[in-house]
Amino acid sequence: MRLNKLREKLAADGLDAMLVTRPQNMRYLSGFSGGDGAVLVVTQQAAVAVTGFIYREQMQREAPDWELVEAKGRLFHALPEVTARLGVRRIGFESTYLTVDQHHDLAEALPDCQLVPVKGMVEELRAVKSEEEIEAITRAIVLADSAFAHIVKFIRPGMKEREVGWELEKYMRSHGADKVSFDIIVGSGPNGAMPHATQSERVIRAGEPIVMDLGAVVDGYCSDLTRTIVIGEPDDTFRTVYDTVLRAQVHAEAKIMPGMTGEEADGIAREIIVEAGYGEAFGHGLGHGVGLAVHESPRVSYMQGENVLQPGMVFTVEPGIYLPGWGGVRIEDIVVLREDGCQVLTKASKEPFVPL
Ligand code: ZN
Ligand code: ZN
Repeated sequence: MRLNKLREKLAADGLDAMLVTRPQNMRYLSGFSGGDGAVLVVTQQAAVAVTGFIYREQMQREAPDWELVEAKGRLFHALPEVTARLGVRRIGFESTYLTVDQHHDLAEALPDCQLVPVKGMVEELRAVKSEEEIEAITRAIVLADSAFAHIVKFIRPGMKEREVGWELEKYMRSHGADKVSFDIIVGSGPNGAMPHATQSERVIRAGEPIVMDLGAVVDGYCSDLTRTIVIGEPDDTFRTVYDTVLRAQVHAEAKIMPGMTGEEADGIAREIIVEAGYGEAFGHGLGHGVGLAVHESPRVSYMQGENVLQPGMVFTVEPGIYLPGWGGVRIEDIVVLREDGCQVLTKASKEPFVPL
């Protein structure tokens, strides 16, 4: 099914073959989970996996339907035999995932082929999820949700950001995560004003905002969750800012519909934050697709967000306000777009007030 869709795209672009090198794309098409330990060649008739000794056994198990070609040296050096045998002339490559050196090697290995740069071909297929994929993502979401519920009971003033981050990671790993989907963020007080601060030695205090952004990987699929809390009494800024971010998020989740562009979806939340006077403090897009990668298509953003949102797409809705010197508030859910709007998959509490 996935291969058929890719083959339609190959035909439309006049390509004899596609060389797939991005790990998540290889996993999506073949099931192979060995990262960059292989390359795939797909033509209208053939599906060939080129790998070496180290991944041979794994490839046979994970991609039994693929023709396995074992490379004795570098993977690209096994390609001339494959392209000659399959009669490939025009071959697409993933231009975003090939280094200059790799492109050089590829051109040397395939002097008789025309190498055509291709952007986002498999990524576009990945953007619309099957129900099985949505189930895997949901399992990853449940883990992050319960890690957050756990941390609210665990976190105390006087703890370092790193202790809290490690507790979140330990919780997810010991409850079934393959790994964490990115470096967990615990941004307390002024650190929270940096949207992608990770964790520091800073000691958490009562009364300040604490931004926590975490995710798990389950069966290859990622989750992504942000919540902001305050332990004890917050200041007035926190109440206003939190209320604004939450209103923007809830409004967007209620209004985003199939057929909108990512940019239009972003605008629904942004309008509320701009009206509240915090437009300058919301400097990132509203959301991003989530799947085998924690950041993937579609873009739900005022930047390059012209992609049209379709049923089956899974993406985050994560407005935020960041005030240098004070801190930040971000609230992030994952939704799946259905015919009639967003189904919110994230269930973690949005109650920000944690008693001292
Ligand atoms: Zn996140
Ligand atoms: Zn995110």
